[in-house]
Amino acid sequence: VNRRFVLSLLFGTIAQTLLGLPAGAKHRGWPPLPGRKPALGPKATIVLDPGHGGRDPGAIGARGTREKDVTLAICRAIRNTLAGLRGVRVVLTRDGDTYMTLPERVAIAGRWGAELFISIHADAAPNPAARGLSAYTLAEKASDDLAAALAARENQVDSIYGVDLSGADRQTAAILIDLARRHSHNSALLAQRKLIDHADGKLRLLENPLRAADFAVLKSPEVPSLLVETGFLSNRHDETLLRDERSRARIAAVLAAAMGTIASELKSA
Ligand SMILES: [Zn+2]
Repeated sequence: VNRRFVLSLLFGTIAQTLLGLPAGAKHRGWPPLPGRKPALGPKATIVLDPGHGGRDPGAIGARGTREKDVTLAICRAIRNTLAGLRGVRVVLTRDGDTYMTLPERVAIAGRWGAELFISIHADAAPNPAARGLSAYTLAEKASDDLAAALAARENQVDSIYGVDLSGADRQTAAILIDLARRHSHNSALLAQRKLIDHADGKLRLLENPLRAADFAVLKSPEVPSLLVETGFLSNRHDETLLRDERSRARIAAVLAAAMGTIASELKSA
């Protein structure tokens, strides 16, 4: 492992830890991405993941609305909106009614060297009154466990951020992976806050819309990842909105505007 790279990654992260993310403070630009492979071409890449698909319908509303159809429709609408925006490329993990595993979805984001990965959902909650949009990042505990698990598995530590780790001893590899993972996690937290700030007042939000959970689809150590619950099919008002093309277009327009800004900022960092 290149010693200079290790140092720049280390100092970058220390600086980011000291300067970035104080609660409630205005952030000073995206954390730098030391040693990161640039994404293909001059564009920022957003990988959009329509949740569920194929034999997995996801949640099903009282009127029969299937989550897999809602998520695909919203993702296609976001892609169409962003298609005209310079400097942003949108890739869908699926563009049809196909089944995909969660690791396959995560891998697509990694292969594209995406600036941002966003999985779109419209799930069900035990409480039928729960409604509104929310955004999830990977829970801190799950994020820590992930770094530990990755470090423990030789096949996954061969390279990260394009840096060959095969010659690194176990401890060095573990430190590098932890730094990389922490970096993506911090970028995901900033993206989450921007997205919710942007949607506030334009879309109905769930209480405490900034959430964290142990979702497998958020476990890319390299790509800042979010999961957006666009609403709840278990709520009759939300189901009415989510099955209506015009309401979906509105949700997509708000999300697209937020994502376009976030991705270009990540790209230019
Ligand atoms: Zn879902």
